[in-house]
Amino acid sequence: MAKRLDKVVVITGASSGIGRATALEFARQGAAVVLAARRMAALHEVAEECVEAGGRAMVVPTDVTDQRAMQALADRAIDAFGGIDIWINNAGVLALGRFEDTPDDVFEQVVRTDFFGTVHGCRAVLPHFLDRGEGIIINNASMVATIGQRYATAYAAAKFAVRGFTESLRQELVDEPGIHVSMVLPAAIDTPLWQHAANYTGRAVKPMNPVHPPEEVAAAILALVHSPQREVFVGAEGRLAAVGNAMAPSLVERAIAHTIERDMFTNRSAPATSGGVLATMPEHQGTSGGWRTPKPKRGFSWTNLTLFLLPVLLASRPLGGGAVRHP
Ligand code: NDP
Repeated sequence: MAKRLDKVVVITGASSGIGRATALEFARQGAAVVLAARRMAALHEVAEECVEAGGRAMVVPTDVTDQRAMQALADRAIDAFGGIDIWINNAGVLALGRFEDTPDDVFEQVVRTDFFGTVHGCRAVLPHFLDRGEGIIINNASMVATIGQRYATAYAAAKFAVRGFTESLRQELVDEPGIHVSMVLPAAIDTPLWQHAANYTGRAVKPMNPVHPPEEVAAAILALVHSPQREVFVGAEGRLAAVGNAMAPSLVERAIAHTIERDMFTNRSAPATSGGVLATMPEHQGTSGGWRTPKPKRGFSWTNLTLFLLPVLLASRPLGGGAVRHP
């Protein structure tokens, strides 16, 4: 029989998508999960599933943009379970639209949630880990933490910030061998993130192909607990884009800009909405957003075509040809 994971795990953004899938994965291993997000009813549903799956669960309604609420989350987890072993900063929101069409308050809330939510989480748990001399922080960034994305200026800025913050914090902890700080960089994942997104593009949006199941991210997070690493990409697209961007930024930037235009929209128009960014949306609480066909198509995808052509293009560039431009 597999050994139980006797750990206490705090997960923000646990009411849907990747956070929910991760909570379930840890519960299946026997962990105690502390579930945080704004939607209380959804969190209670996840807690019930976690208990059914073999774990222990506690719900703490929390807004990650509120530092005091995040401190209260850490305190309640410690009171209930005697300590925290793993803290996962996962809560996030997405806003899509040209920069000039994205309202100020929506832009700021994306940065407050995705970046400051992560900062608040680290601030809340780090003193506890330093006292104990051990603990694991896992920050869920995105492949967009390594390469920009048109129509997502706030999201990309926040995720780049998460990456810079995570790398810098890890350096500060270089003499704390028991404390690990890791980052996950998922590609497009089948979650309700896209239904929750603020949208000022005028068009209905969808994740770009290929779309990976949220359970892949949950498995990557669990693997980081067993074998900590600096960062892990989920989906080959992220690593390919990061490598391509390091080698030929202007070429890759253009290719990705065109791919997004082609592959991130459906044929339908869509009214402007702040989605679940400024206030919660009661619907869309599942792990999946319903973006994958039952049998994943192995066929054509613009993202794959672009990314697989990149190495060919790069290899065909003359050595020392001065073509790599750093604007
Ligand atoms: P979901 O929309 O399903 O999940 C987002 C979670 O964040 C929800 O539980 C939501 O809960 C919570 N949340 C949002 N705002 C706040 C807030 N202010 N305070 C507390 N919780 C909040 O999408 P995903 O599961 O996809 O997103 C999870 C993470 O994964 C995000 O950081 C996202 O950027 C990242 N990611 C997702 C990718 C994808 O393609 N889906 C790709 C790469 C990264 P509630 O509304 O109840 O507060």
